[in-house]
Formats: sequence, structure tokens, C-alpha cells
Amino acid sequence: MKADAVIKAVYEKVLARNPGETEFHQAVKEVLDSLGPVLEKHPEYIEANILERIVEPERQLMFRVPWQDDKGNFRVNRGFRFEFNSALGPYKGGLRLHPTVCASILKFLGFEQVFKNSLTTLPMGGGKGGSDFDPKGKSDNEVMRFCQSFMTELCRHIGPDTDVPAGDIGTGGREIGFMFGQYKRIRNEFTGILTGKALNWGGSLIRPEATGYGCVYFAEEMLKTRGDSFKGKICTVSGSGNVAQYTVEKLNQLGAKAVTLSDSGGTIHDPAGIDAEKLAFVMELKNVKRGRIKEYADKYGVEYLEGKRPWGIKCDCAFPSATQNEIDENDAKTLLKNGCILVSEGANMPSTPEAADQFVSNKILYGPAKAANAGGVATSGLEMSQNSQRLSWTREEVDERLHNIMISIHRQCYDAAEEYGMPGNLVAGANIAGFVKIADSMLDQGLV
Ligand code: NDP
Repeated sequence: MKADAVIKAVYEKVLARNPGETEFHQAVKEVLDSLGPVLEKHPEYIEANILERIVEPERQLMFRVPWQDDKGNFRVNRGFRFEFNSALGPYKGGLRLHPTVCASILKFLGFEQVFKNSLTTLPMGGGKGGSDFDPKGKSDNEVMRFCQSFMTELCRHIGPDTDVPAGDIGTGGREIGFMFGQYKRIRNEFTGILTGKALNWGGSLIRPEATGYGCVYFAEEMLKTRGDSFKGKICTVSGSGNVAQYTVEKLNQLGAKAVTLSDSGGTIHDPAGIDAEKLAFVMELKNVKRGRIKEYADKYGVEYLEGKRPWGIKCDCAFPSATQNEIDENDAKTLLKNGCILVSEGANMPSTPEAADQFVSNKILYGPAKAANAGGVATSGLEMSQNSQRLSWTREEVDERLHNIMISIHRQCYDAAEEYGMPGNLVAGANIAGFVKIADSMLDQGLV
């Protein structure tokens, strides 16, 4: 069969086998659409049916998570872990706790993770998990009881050489701590089964910063290809969680001005820039008080755009750092009309396919999530290395490794795009460079 026909057949099977899972379909299509030239050059991938194998998770786990709220009511959530692909190493990928979590969302994230982890050059397979539990509005004790119940089941399936989950939306340091404690209690072993741990008990310096910093480092590499830098650039950032916070911090360090942050309630616009002091306020507000971003507008007297995302605000560079499909085609057109020259994706799949097409066809600097936000998982990989060696590296050492990994990821995407005749198209470049390594490893390992 010809490459195009193979791709079409595999995609149709994905639609039929995974009905209604629109986010998963979207993520698969985006990758498959880039792979035609690769299959033409490598008929061995077609012969070994690599595409159909790669779109099917190796293992899918779904389980009941019963827990008790503070009023004594018995509550039930659904837990998941998708162990997607282990060709390159143990499954690795975060745990999302959000009411929208379902199989489709976790499968899209797990699928993306496989390619992202491949790009990091570290030995990590891909997986993703989580629950439809919403930590927002819950007491610390309720969150702890949920996390303990979740880990009581999950602990059977993970391990330092099997599957090493991490944080994601709704899973920060607090949740990782509760889950780690429960694992240790049940298994009677202190091993690196989660990343994103606190420093005192096996965490890595720079892990909290890594996704945001990495996304900005990746953007810096894109700017360099046009002889440009961050000096004086106006940047819009969405979200106000882990990724958004450290994106703003690194942008400030590199001489750019971040002017927005958001949450599911709305967006704040601070034309004077979110400087270090204001960022410290955001970190306290979001990580400790668990408040709403509107309080920033109240404190600093800036505009609050209720229910709005930041994409209508004029900027040079945009950093979507909240959630999937947060930039649609109209947002993309608005960004382009307002002179945006760069989009670097901190969130996973934040641009709809139509929005991504706008960025690619208008040839702006566009860093797709699986490349631009890979710094988080890369530093999780570094945390695993430190755990294995029972060593801790310095802040400078980890940051330098992260920076070099982001430079290398950019280089791989850029070179793959050139090699396959799509110069500058980092979407295709990321998909191809990530895919080839996994496909070759799957071939090496036989029919798995
Ligand atoms: P956090 O939970 O720390 O923050 C998420 C932020 O996004 C919050 O401000 C939240 O607002 C907002 N948000 C979440 N869902 C929605 C929604 N449906 N609509 C509008 N706003 C929303 O998560 P992270 O910062 O860790 O993750 C952000 C993104 O980055 C995700 O796509 C994640 O998959 C991705 N990512 C994270 C990595 C990491 O290391 N943490 C690594 C790679 C990617 P609110 O509080 O109101 O819900």
C-alpha cells in the first residue's frame, strides 16, 4: 500500500475503535498527517505495521477511586493510567486531576507524550493518567484522602523501572507528596516512582521551573533562527499555574515583558508587565491561597477581562500555558493580525488544528507543544537519573542540562523539517524526529 493510503486506513481504524474520543482523534491526525514522506522513505515501517501499533496504547487501566469528604459522605471518582508506549524506556507522563478528565483526553496526552519523550533524547516511554477528581475547592484533607485512595490502586501498576508518573493540571507538589507517601506505606520502599517530588525527599532542583523555562528556551532558539531575541518583546501568557508562572519568570530574565495571565474565570492585562514582585504575588495567590487571578486585577488596579482568553491583546509572542484547544482559528487570526511573530506552546495541544494551520501557513515561528513543553518531562528524566544515583545535582547543573536539551530538541525538529522538505515547519519536524526514533526501536524489539 502507498503511504497516503496507509495513513488514511490507520486513521479510519482509530476513529472506529475509539468512538467519540475527539481529542485523541485530533492528536493522532496531527501526527499522521506529517508522516507521509517518512513512510515513503522507510517502507519497512509500513511492512511492520508500525502506525497501527503506535496508535494503540500498550495497556489501559481504569479503576474506581472511593474516598470520603469532610462531611463523611462517600464519594467515587474514576482513575486512569494509559501506558502508551515503552519502546524507549519506562512509561513516563503526568497525572491530570480535573473534572474534564476522560479516556479521550488522557489518550491524546499519552500519545503526544510518546513523541515528546522521544525528542528529549532521554530513555523514557510515554504514558498519561489522572482522574476526574477536582482538587479545586477541596480541603487539604480531602485531597489527601483522594490521593491515598488513587495511589492504593495505581501502586500495583507503576515502579521506578516500569512507569513513573508526574504532575499535570491539578497535580502539583501537594498531590505528588500525598501519593508518594501512600506508595511508600503500601510497598515499603523508597524509590523514584514519581517525579515532581519536593527537594527534601528526592526531588530535583529546577523541576518546578522546567516546563516554563524550557518553553522560553525553545522560543529563544526559534528567534535566533531569524537573528532576533526577546529584548523588549511583549508577550501574552495564558493560565496562571505552574507552566505559566515560570514562563513569565524566564521571559522577565531574558528582557521580555509578559503582560497577561489567566485562569478559567478570565484574563488580567497588565501593560506595565508582570515583574518579579507581581509574579511572587501570583505564586502565593495560586500555589498557597489557591485564589482566582481576578485578585491580581483588584490588587494592582489593572484590567480584568471576565471569561476571556488573552489572545485579543496585542503581542509579539504568545505562550498558551493553560489547556488544550484554547486558541481557535479566530484567536489565531487575531494574533496574526496584531503582529504576533511567535507562538510557543507550554500547554498540551493548545491550538486547534485550524489555528495551527494559520500559524504554519503564515510561517510565523511556531513551537508545537510536544517540542516546546518537553522541558518538564526532560527534567523529570533528570530527576529519575539523580534518584537512581542517589545524588542531587546543583541548580546550575540541572538548568544547564535543561537548556541544552531544549536547544537539541529545537535542532532535531528544525533538521527533520529540512530533511523532509518542509523547512521551518517545526510541527512536521517534531512529529518526524520523534517518530523515527520510536519506530526504529519498535523494529529492533520485534513484534511488541
Ligand atoms: P496547573 O494546574 O498548575 O495550571 C493550569 C492553569 O490553566 C490554571 O491557571 C487553570 O485555571 C488553567 N486552566 C486549566 N484548565 C482550563 C480550562 N479548561 N479553561 C481555562 N483555563 C484552564 O497546570 P500546569 O501549569 O501544570 O499545566 C498547564 C498546561 O501545561 C497543561 O496543558 C499541561 O498538560 C501542560 N504541561 C504541563 C507540564 C508540567 O510540567 N506541569 C509539562 C508539560 C505540559 P483554573 O485554576 O481556573 O482551572
